[in-house]
Amino acid sequence: MRLDTKHMRYLTADDWRTLTAVETGSKNHEVVPTPLIEKLSGLRGQVHKNISALAKVGLIARLKNAKYDGYRLTYGGLDYLALNTYRKRRDVYSVGNQIGVGKESDIFVVADEKGVQRVLKIHRLGRISFRTVKANRDYLRNRSSGSWMYMSRLAALKEYTFMQALRENGFPVPEPLAQSRHTIVMSLIDAFPMRQISSVPDPASLYAELIAMIIRLAQFGLIHGDFNEFNILIKEDESQETTGDNTTEKRTLTPILIDFPQMVSIDHANAEYYFDRDVNCIKRFFQRKFHFTSDEKGPYLADAKKLVGKDDSVRLDVSVAASGFSKKMAKELEAYMKEVGVDGDGDPDSARGDEDDEGEGEDEEGESEQDISKDHQTEPTATAKCHGLPDSVGESTL
Ligand code: ADP
Ligand code: MG
Repeated sequence: MRLDTKHMRYLTADDWRTLTAVETGSKNHEVVPTPLIEKLSGLRGQVHKNISALAKVGLIARLKNAKYDGYRLTYGGLDYLALNTYRKRRDVYSVGNQIGVGKESDIFVVADEKGVQRVLKIHRLGRISFRTVKANRDYLRNRSSGSWMYMSRLAALKEYTFMQALRENGFPVPEPLAQSRHTIVMSLIDAFPMRQISSVPDPASLYAELIAMIIRLAQFGLIHGDFNEFNILIKEDESQETTGDNTTEKRTLTPILIDFPQMVSIDHANAEYYFDRDVNCIKRFFQRKFHFTSDEKGPYLADAKKLVGKDDSVRLDVSVAASGFSKKMAKELEAYMKEVGVDGDGDPDSARGDEDDEGEGEDEEGESEQDISKDHQTEPTATAKCHGLPDSVGESTL
């Protein structure tokens, strides 16, 4: 979904109050009745003018239910509210290119006032298959169609909370910078997903590093749940090494882990399944892409669990539940994700069965180029991914 910010600067203070009123009203109403918008905005009779202005640019939509007319917030309206918060807090100054389109998210490069690039991730749960979810009234309760908003907020809050906890404990993840509603802002990693790296100098050491990361996550009580070549960005640093008369180029690769809405605790009922899937995802990728197979079996969750509490490790699954992302929220989000079949973008058995046919010895460069165009065609899917980083941002200032 595009993020068209051009109307932002034309909205008046009263328009913003009205938009906020619709957001507040949506917490309890599928269709927010006009008199309630009037009341919540404190604008009395003149609110109709503001309502029309917002509806005209698609930030709210007029709806009728059995009893009355009213409005609901659109994704565009929610995007604007989040961006306005970032603008006021000086987290985001301008919005640049879109670099990722997932089934459940949009990724943009943004910049702060100094022009430092950052990443804005907008969660869009329910974009694809909200109808199936609607059937399940159990956890929707009376939130009804408002739940796309609620679930997207939960996903953003979860991702932000986990990213903070991981970062504080020395895991290589982006720096979480801000969170508002269904979005987060994080540092931009100047790197490509491992999927697009055609060769590595020493596959064995990169493999070992990734497996060690999976084990260390478990030691801290967590399983990523979508640990795959799309969610691992590979930072490449080149340096020159001089020994005697010889100067050689040295390439250092650092994996950075992203994408946390599906993380689970090592105490989850299916923890072993998720752990093994993460491990196998990496094994399979290294076999296929780098023709590397590890001699060692495992690792296994049972062994990783023995490390819990050692080397000053703490249970992050427990601490995040206490620090903002509650167990109840985790359950609601998980139930939703299961319902719509969101199982991350990395289940190789279901999402990308086609890749298993890749033959030996093909042109690796060609392969990754083709992958990108394939991603474009299949958009939006869980595999429609990074389109490369833009050279410049700042096309649209908020
Ligand atoms: P999704 O949930 O849609 O899979 P991700 O968080 O995995 O979303 O992001 C999708 C893509 O966007 C990634 O594969 C990566 O190419 C890019 N991306 C996401 N976050 C960053 C970041 N902090 N820095 C650079 N690129 C990023
Ligand atoms: Mg991803």
